[in-house]
Amino acid sequence: MTFNEFNLKEDLQKAIDSAGFQEPSPIQEKAIPVVLSGKDIVGQAQTGTGKTAAFGLPILNMMKCDGSVEAVIIVPTRELAMQVSDEIFRFGKFLGINTATVYGGQSYSRQLKNISNASVLIATPGRFLDLLRDKKINIKPSYVVLDEADEMLDMGFLDDIKEIFTFMPDARQTVLFSATMPTAIKNLAKTILVEPEFITI
Ligand code: AMP
Repeated sequence: MTFNEFNLKEDLQKAIDSAGFQEPSPIQEKAIPVVLSGKDIVGQAQTGTGKTAAFGLPILNMMKCDGSVEAVIIVPTRELAMQVSDEIFRFGKFLGINTATVYGGQSYSRQLKNISNASVLIATPGRFLDLLRDKKINIKPSYVVLDEADEMLDMGFLDDIKEIFTFMPDARQTVLFSATMPTAIKNLAKTILVEPEFITI
């Protein structure tokens, strides 16, 4: 199949074309229609399968671009935060979508300044929770993604993640991606997602 069959916004299709993507990867083929339908989704996929675009493209397509932070992507590490931010920015640039990153080890002030003109926030759990607890950021994202959930679990972030979700609006679409599906991830999915569709490749 081709990306055109998803009927994405013209400016998004333009970005896909300029990235040189010819056809959707298997995870993209399965996940993009589900995310576009508005359903919560649990996807089992390894890195390198194209999972960033699998959740990023449909979310970008649905965003209103109203100047607020409409989507939050929670990732285990600073490296992944930067990588996901680059990828999302590349797809969203013709839509005028800016990204901001939040992770430990960098000054709060600079990160907070970047959030003020971002529509997509990519964050590691510890720093994100600090900012939410301190009321340094007040956002109501319509889309929340947990990327590499099993990694975050292994790093001991489970309680942080659960607390982060107490700050997220109930009216949201939630996406969870994980390379493996241990019981703890399945249980987490039960508490933060609503009737999710499970996909795997
Ligand atoms: P990810 O699994 O999201 O980290 O993606 C791995 C790499 O594959 C990244 O460099 C992406 O830009 C690239 N990629 C993702 N989807 C496609 C696609 N459909 N066609 C070609 N490259 C892709």
